[in-house]
Amino acid sequence: MRPISGSMDIIDPIGLQHLRPDIQAIPVDWGKSRQIQLDMLRLDRIDPHISGNKWFKLVYNLEAAKKEGYNTVLSFGGPWSNHLAAFAIAAQMIGIKAVGVVRGAHFEQAPTPTLIHCKNAGMSLQFVAREQYTLKDNADWLDQLQVQWDHPYIIPEGGANKEGRRGAGLIANFIPNTYTHICVSVGSGTTLAGLRQSLSLNQYVLGFAPMKQGRYLMDVVGNWLDANQNTRWSITDEYHFGGFGKVNADLTHWMEQFFQQTGIQLDRVYTGKMMYGVMDLIRNGYFPEAASILCIHTGGLQGNG
Ligand SMILES: *Cc1c(COP(=O)(O)O)cnc(C)c1O
Repeated sequence: MRPISGSMDIIDPIGLQHLRPDIQAIPVDWGKSRQIQLDMLRLDRIDPHISGNKWFKLVYNLEAAKKEGYNTVLSFGGPWSNHLAAFAIAAQMIGIKAVGVVRGAHFEQAPTPTLIHCKNAGMSLQFVAREQYTLKDNADWLDQLQVQWDHPYIIPEGGANKEGRRGAGLIANFIPNTYTHICVSVGSGTTLAGLRQSLSLNQYVLGFAPMKQGRYLMDVVGNWLDANQNTRWSITDEYHFGGFGKVNADLTHWMEQFFQQTGIQLDRVYTGKMMYGVMDLIRNGYFPEAASILCIHTGGLQGNG
């Protein structure tokens, strides 16, 4: 495993250089005859709140904010946002003021555990109605927020920008070259894009979109990648279970069984659907014989409530 290197001001305070997430073997009955190996990279064990991929997507954004002399950083998220939860802690650790713009005005009166966690970490919250929230990338509204919050550095929802992709690419440091297939859940596609940019092109990257019609993200990710990197990856949206954030009894039952078998807790929005999908694809013979598959546990357990 290559250590995370660099003399970044930010990596030190958040302890990224000390991270050594473990890789755990997952038993897979139907793969045995075809010599399929299945493992999981436990990014969920980095920290209960900063867990998973969000940490990585924030690193270079926070570094840029600090370098450019900002004292406030602002970002966006829903009431259960893993991104806001991680952002609140990361900002607190490096001593920069954090503002979270939250989708859903009524959560001001009835905050979720995620939002209470954010407040406790010192984040200022601004609650906006759903319609207003759809303007989160609108230049006029961003200008207003600039004035309102003392000219913050603005990070898009989910850390979905160039710095986010570069940071997500750091996850490749923990992935040995021996794996033939890397599986990851997809929300904005930032993590998948960062991995594709940083992993060897010998390794296939397979994304699992947990929403209906999530294959539109193929275009989004494709546009981010340079032509020479835009190969050997794809996204499946077959395992959405009714849509983003939706679950059914089949999925929750399966997640419980998985937990009993492996001791690994999955989240309902992303990693549960991905692992269900990976197992289904193995059973259906999607992966070639002797494939060596690494699934990334991107965290999100705080969102289980
Ligand atoms: C945000 C998130 C993702 C999706 O990451 P993107 O970079 O937005 O594609 C996947 N898994 C978990 C647990 C997440 O919180």
